[in-house]
Order: sequence, then structure tokens, then C-alpha cells
Amino acid sequence: MDIFSSEPKPYSHDIPSRPYRLLVVDDSPADLHFLLNGLSDNYIVSFASSAQEAISLANQFPQPDLVLLDVVMPEISGFEMCSMLKNDMNTKNIPIIFVTSQQDTTDKTKGFNVGAVDYITKPLELAELEARVQTHIRLKEQSNYLESMAYFDPLTRVPNRRKYNEVLLREWTRCIRYHHQMSMIIIDIDFFKQYNEYYGHAEGDNCLMSVARLLEHQGGRPTDLFARIGGEEFVMILPDCNAAGAVKKAESMLAVVNEANIPHKGIEHTPNLTVSMGVASTFPSHGQGALSLFQAADDALFAAKRDGRNQISIAKSDNIPGVRGEAARQHHH
Ligand code: GH3
Ligand code: MG
Ligand code: MG
Repeated sequence: MDIFSSEPKPYSHDIPSRPYRLLVVDDSPADLHFLLNGLSDNYIVSFASSAQEAISLANQFPQPDLVLLDVVMPEISGFEMCSMLKNDMNTKNIPIIFVTSQQDTTDKTKGFNVGAVDYITKPLELAELEARVQTHIRLKEQSNYLESMAYFDPLTRVPNRRKYNEVLLREWTRCIRYHHQMSMIIIDIDFFKQYNEYYGHAEGDNCLMSVARLLEHQGGRPTDLFARIGGEEFVMILPDCNAAGAVKKAESMLAVVNEANIPHKGIEHTPNLTVSMGVASTFPSHGQGALSLFQAADDALFAAKRDGRNQISIAKSDNIPGVRGEAARQHHH
């Protein structure tokens, strides 16, 4: 602040660069019109005049960055709609600001209790409304950024071990509840020590990025998670997926790496970089911890390494028909 001026200097916020999307939910056309005119210069604004319509829009991609929500609406009220959005995994992180003519303080606290970040009363002042919208979008961006720092591996930009641990526990619990199977694939690069020795650590880093790019979207379902859990070790968590499905997935990942023909001159017997994989499946239960699935996949990985690498090994399990005793092996030639 300039100590010689009586007015505090305005703080210059970093202006968010991309155009942000606002969803305005209001059953009154006059209010909608006012907001549309005021906000559409700086934001991409979409409208809904009912909660049903708004919930469907909030779930569509690209999702809104913020919702301005009227409290009084026919059928589903703004409060109810707010709870619905906040209790849905897909929409719970979208900030919601209530816009209403009711000035009653109990209503205001109710808005916060159902998960809103702010509350603004009619008649609306556009400058105040825009300032609040901007503030909450900036806060959301900051929390997104911090979350990405906490949950993503900076080198390969895929989820890290912390994210893996959280997702594993969450999905494990969910699979227990619904009596669903869960599978896991651990992927470990073969002879990576020699890769680093031959090409240098920087090229090793590039190689890790290439492998991550090749495998990160192999999961396919939104609940699948691909993560880097160690130096040259990756994992794919496959909830609601049986052993046969997991083996198919592992086979296609093995093929993708082989087809990429990444040169590895650091070893004599194979010209290209390869990976080995351990696959395990189970019906999660309260009696066993999620770590048991990892352990089974890791044991299978060890078998794949021992038996020559560039292959998939499946953990012995009662859940895999026809597989007993020794780990089943699948060679890639
Ligand atoms: P195996 O076929 O049995 O898996 O042998 P390996 O050489 O791949 O496995 P090992 O565990 O002996 O060595 C892993 C190497 O991965 C050692 C380490 O230098 C390298 N590494 C781990 N993290 C990184 C990283 O972030 N960047 C680079 N460039 N190398 C890494
Ligand atoms: Mg390795
Ligand atoms: Mg390793």
C-alpha cells in the first residue's frame, strides 16, 4: 500500500486467462436477462430455469466453473439442488453462489450448510456479483493447483502414489459394499538401470514420460486409475473388473509398449524397451486389506521378471478359473 495516499491501492489479482463458464439457474426470465447481459462479456454463460435442467447441464462437459443459483424455484428448490450437486462426485467441486431476494439470515446460513461458497441478495449489483464470481473462481483455481501438486507426479504428470493410495482405499471399500471384483496391474520397466547407464539420467526421464503417455489412457473407465508408484514402476487399478478383463488390459498394454519400439541399446539380447507386469484380482472383503491385492500383483510381477521379462504373470487365485499353484504366464514374442 502507498503510505502517502489515503486510498488503499487496489490489489491486482492475476487475471484468469481462459474464458470461464458460468451456469445461471433462475426461474425468473427478467433476472436471467439481467445476468446474461451483465456477465456474458467476460464469461461463457449458460442458463437453466429449473433444477432438473441445471443438474443435467452441470454434468455435461465442459462443466461450469461456477453456478449462480436462485433459492426459490418451483419443484426442486435451490437448496435441494445445491445438496444434490454437492453429494454427487461429478459435480461436488463446482462452487455455488446463491442469488436470492430473501434477506432472512437463517436462509443465508442454510445456503452455506448445504455447501454454497457465497450468498448474494437481489437487487443485484453487477460489480459486486462479478467481484464475488471472480474471487471464487480464483480460489477454485488455487485449490485445483494445490491438488495437482499433491496428487500428480511432476515428471510424468500422471497421478502419484498418494493418489493411488486414496483411490485404492476408496474403491476397495466400494467394491466390498457392492460385492464387486477388483483387479490390479503392476507395470515395471525391464532393465531400466541399464537404460539410465547407457543413455543417461535425462534420457531415462524422457523414457519414463514416454511410457506414461503410452499407458495412461489404457484404463478406459472413469474409475480406473493409472499412477506412478515408484521410480520405473506404474500401477493400474481396475475396480469392477474381473481377472479375464484385467489380463486383456495387461496384454494390450504390453503390446502398446512393444509396438512403440523404444530403443534400448543398454542390453544385448533385446533391441527395444520392454515392461513386465503382475496381474491380480479379488473380491474385496472386510477380512483382507487392500494391500493384499497389491502384494499378490507384486508377487506375480516378480514371477514375470524371473521368467524372462516382457511378459504378464497372473497371481494364483481362487477367483481365476483354471489357475492353481504356479503363477500363469503369458509370453510376448
Ligand atoms: P528389472 O528389469 O528387474 O526391473 O531391472 P531394473 O534395472 O529396471 O530395476 P532396478 O530396480 O534395478 O532399477 C531401477 C532403476 O530405475 C534404478 C534407477 O536409477 C532408475 N530410476 C528410478 N527412478 C528414476 C527416475 O525418476 N528417473 C530416471 N531417469 N531413472 C530412475
Ligand atoms: Mg525395472
Ligand atoms: Mg522397479
